[in-house]
Amino acid sequence: MGPTKYIFFTGGVVSSVGKGVTAAAVGRLLKERGFAVAVQKLDPYINVDPGTMSPYQHGEVYVLDDGAETDLDLGHYERFIDVNLNRVCNVTTGQVYAEVIAKERRGDYLGGTIQVIPHITNEIKKRIGLVARTTGAEIVLVEIGGTVGDIESLPFLEAIRQMRSDVGRENTAYIHVTWLPHIGATEELKTKPTQHSVRELRSIGIAPDMIVARSDYPVPDDLRSKIALFCDVDKRAVVPMVTAPVLYEVPLLLEKANVGDYLVERLKLEVRRQPNWTDWEKLVERVKQEKPVVKIALVGKYVELHDAYMSVREAVKHAAIANGVEVEITWVHSAELEKDRGWDAVKNVDGIIVPGGFGSRGIEGKIKAARYARENQIPYLGLCLGMQLMVVEFARTALGDENANSSEFDRTTPHPVIDLMPDQKEIVDMGGTMRLGVYPCHMQPGTKASAAYGVDLVQERHRHRFELNNSYRKILEDAGMKFSGLSPDGNLVEIAEIIDHPFMVGTQFHPEFLSRPTRAHPLFSAFIRAVCERAREMQNTG
Ligand code: GLN
Repeated sequence: MGPTKYIFFTGGVVSSVGKGVTAAAVGRLLKERGFAVAVQKLDPYINVDPGTMSPYQHGEVYVLDDGAETDLDLGHYERFIDVNLNRVCNVTTGQVYAEVIAKERRGDYLGGTIQVIPHITNEIKKRIGLVARTTGAEIVLVEIGGTVGDIESLPFLEAIRQMRSDVGRENTAYIHVTWLPHIGATEELKTKPTQHSVRELRSIGIAPDMIVARSDYPVPDDLRSKIALFCDVDKRAVVPMVTAPVLYEVPLLLEKANVGDYLVERLKLEVRRQPNWTDWEKLVERVKQEKPVVKIALVGKYVELHDAYMSVREAVKHAAIANGVEVEITWVHSAELEKDRGWDAVKNVDGIIVPGGFGSRGIEGKIKAARYARENQIPYLGLCLGMQLMVVEFARTALGDENANSSEFDRTTPHPVIDLMPDQKEIVDMGGTMRLGVYPCHMQPGTKASAAYGVDLVQERHRHRFELNNSYRKILEDAGMKFSGLSPDGNLVEIAEIIDHPFMVGTQFHPEFLSRPTRAHPLFSAFIRAVCERAREMQNTG
């Protein structure tokens, strides 16, 4: 195997222009050419990981197989490239400093003065190096969070600048993703901010090899020439990327722009196979086709920010494609339901998802949504917290006691049907102390969940502290709940479902993290199938 190749992605002009999606799509281009690819995100904030950050600030926390709590861009990487990444693929300033300071306290630096250059930058480079070693990737894509010009990202930029002389020019490429603003009055796109951000990048020693110019409007050819001239890149390497109506079209657009071929040439690689886009083309075609519409409600507490449920939304999309329908999601705030508002939206749908969450705000609203779904035979999918609350709701009815609860929300409940496991009770730290990452789950035959999966043993990703309290299992089972997935020792309930219902299934894990565009997750797929059936029935009776 030749030397590891590195492609670095920086952002210019403004944030949120899809740098993560661009990196993910470029990864796909290279995988299609037969290379082993991995992607790493370098996040300039000082939190050790996004695990303790509010979804309002940061969007969803994406969980990997090994339990790392990471930036949501890792979800894009895994979905586009269909790889399973690991802990070293998300690095934050907080992690880097924590490591360097721990070494300093141990005396590892033998009295030296610890500085940003070289100590911090060396630690960053060490972590970039770990990606190839731990994933076996031949090409490592590295995305630097934030925008060039931010104070926080300087050490990361300095580290990737050094990489060019460390590993050689033919082993490194720099891609700068910028934004072309549109001036309404004159109906034109402007390149000046792009020029400025490239100048900023050059002033810290990085000359981009490629510029991806994002825009909401078509980019005329002379603008490409202008960017090439002013920013000193090949015209071939100025890639206009107009906002795609379908996210999964991005790799196809970049392929058409010859980005894959250009990078292969630039990095002196030999293509192993010709890309085969048949599946992706079919996928995009299916998304674009007119399809019958079904409606579901997503009842959560961060609904104003759809990014907080990024993977859930993508998993729904994948399942919709697999079932040949369009799914319209109504975002319902659980705190509103508590105040008896927003019910019209819930009553208007054929399926309800209650996703994961923490903290007591809006909990009773979610429980009410679960009750509504159960009593009205509406398909329901509960993800982690959504499963726990489905159990709480069922227990309240089974026990005839509305005080049954999860001890997360009511410490003195007479019926803690969801509770901490004894070994979790001692923990005081908030960060990284949950049940995290993949755990096996044994399917119980004859259940809806086992029919959906069609296999006996699955691995699913977790992120939670609380579990179903085993002392209530018998009562719940006697009342009509079935535990359709269990840990191999039978000690933990992984999936619960309600027998006398078309589809009311809750998972202690997060299936959304393992759904892929061309491989919809079985449980999401089964849920959407049930939603379609109900929609059809309602039409027939309606
Ligand atoms: N708050 C719940 C727990 O910690 C659920 C977590 C989640 O939904 N991810 O167990």
